[in-house]
Amino acid sequence: MSKEIIGNQNIQSLLNNSIKTNNISHSYLFSGPDGIGKKLIAKEFAKKILCLNENKLEENNCKSCLEFDNNNNPDFQIIQEAETIKIEQIRKLQEKVYEKPIISNKKVYIIDNAENMTPEAQNCLLKTLEEPPEYIVIILITSNENNLLQTIKSRCLKISFNPIETDVLITYLKNNLHYNITNTMLKMYEGSIGKAIKINEKIELYNKLNKYLENLEEENIIQIINNSEELYKGKENINEILEYFNVYFMEKAKEEYHNAYKYLNAIKIVEETKRRLKFNSNYDMSIDNLLINIWEEFRN
Ligand SMILES: [Zn+2]
Repeated sequence: MSKEIIGNQNIQSLLNNSIKTNNISHSYLFSGPDGIGKKLIAKEFAKKILCLNENKLEENNCKSCLEFDNNNNPDFQIIQEAETIKIEQIRKLQEKVYEKPIISNKKVYIIDNAENMTPEAQNCLLKTLEEPPEYIVIILITSNENNLLQTIKSRCLKISFNPIETDVLITYLKNNLHYNITNTMLKMYEGSIGKAIKINEKIELYNKLNKYLENLEEENIIQIINNSEELYKGKENINEILEYFNVYFMEKAKEEYHNAYKYLNAIKIVEETKRRLKFNSNYDMSIDNLLINIWEEFRN
């Protein structure tokens, strides 16, 4: 199982080097935007820490690596909650922390979305970070470190992740996703491979939207409404669709800065539509309003 992890090469080298020199900290804070590979890199790092082979950096089939790939390694655990991480979960983890490793001579715990820990949960975890058993490695992952207590942060070795560089991202996408990337899409990725993959899953929709937006200024209101099928039947994707509108208009505003005001006004109209939909206004009527207002803005 060899996967290519793109971007943040310097961090990957740093972590590999700490494996090679056996210079591993007890606690790490992986911090940076969503969808740029923090978790993937953390898991690879965990796997190598636990590996029993002499050369841990080489692909190998030691017992630990095999069990790791089968999500079955008893010396590894990951907590990943989309919402709150409560104190009970941290207490459970702590009970396990004091049990010695079974296969390897280390144990690795990853807490993804660590900012979701309640303050009580963080305070509880602090005890382990202050006096970790010698075999313990804890990796906290966060895209919002402001929500972590200073006392937690000061106990961890911080590794700051950067958005993936645009050219690296484009090369990867061209080789792996096989579609034409528009400027708007590129902006929407924000250097995030996770976002790019999500967009790729709906590439047909985005291609249609792009064509639709390119023609928007040339059409009359009847044509616009007739061509807006994607919007009228796109209720479940409407947030992504409107985000695409906004990123597109922002790009246009930058390109045609002497006309910027009309694109900025269009963004305001989109924002107003988002607000209406959030408060459950009639869906079709909200879309009607959106189209008519944008058409009027562009007509002037
Ligand atoms: Zn191994």
